[in-house]
Amino acid sequence: MNGEFQPEIVLDHICKLGEGPVWDAAGNSILWLDILQGEIHQFNINTKQHSIFTAGEMVGCIAPREQGGFVAGLEYGIGFIDTEKKEVKHFIHPEEGLNNRFNDGKADAAGRFWTGSMSKTEEENKGNFYMVDTDLSIHKKIENVSISNGLAWNTDNTILYYINTPINYVFAFDFNMETGEINNQRVVVDLTHEKGFADGMTIDEEGMLWIAFYDGWRVARYNPVTGDLLQQIDLPVANATCCTFGGTDFTDLYITTASKGMSKEALAQQPHAGKLFVVKNTGIKGTPAQKFKA
Ligand code: CA
Repeated sequence: MNGEFQPEIVLDHICKLGEGPVWDAAGNSILWLDILQGEIHQFNINTKQHSIFTAGEMVGCIAPREQGGFVAGLEYGIGFIDTEKKEVKHFIHPEEGLNNRFNDGKADAAGRFWTGSMSKTEEENKGNFYMVDTDLSIHKKIENVSISNGLAWNTDNTILYYINTPINYVFAFDFNMETGEINNQRVVVDLTHEKGFADGMTIDEEGMLWIAFYDGWRVARYNPVTGDLLQQIDLPVANATCCTFGGTDFTDLYITTASKGMSKEALAQQPHAGKLFVVKNTGIKGTPAQKFKA
């Protein structure tokens, strides 16, 4: 049921674990990560220039900072990254001594940074989900998560949507933008009977969620009010990991994918596994990435 959506390959680079796409409107660029290689990729869609910054440790997520550069959820804590100066500066490591790494994360509309962790060996319930305030204080928001993953806020900033991957639900929390408090956890989309595992997600201008399915061969659009599947993008690769809107009018959907852990046979059948895809002109607008105000 691909319908109107035609995924295209953006460039031929293959990631082990492509993830965390972020659109940089000022730079006309799409940024994404290879978490396992500790790489931040940047591709200018006009000049076609591709650059790679290597952090020297795993990079689970990045969010732009208001003053330039990025805040990142890393293998060893949370830090600032300046890809121009080639600097990584850690400022907090709330999980020192645990065999965890940071995974997905984003900034909220008030300029705080939210990121969660997971066990490096994917042991269940070992991760946590945190909020880093603009004074760099850190606050644990959810305990005992397995793979802290996709997150998105509704356009009114009253709801936080959240995915803890092995549990195939999208949860919602009431979100207080002023204080950063989250309450009243409930299930809004039940994916337990779907193929694959809900991984990263983004939200569009209409408040609908676009969810990437690991081992699910697709990205799909869901209504978090009714829980209904609305539209689907079928991909030629099994492991979709995350997606974000970009392009000059914010209607192009960029999709990251993974090639890690695949057999030789599977890789031969999916030669594009690990590449960055785009569906141009979806007809639906996304919402820009918020910036960390610290
Ligand atoms: Ca993810």
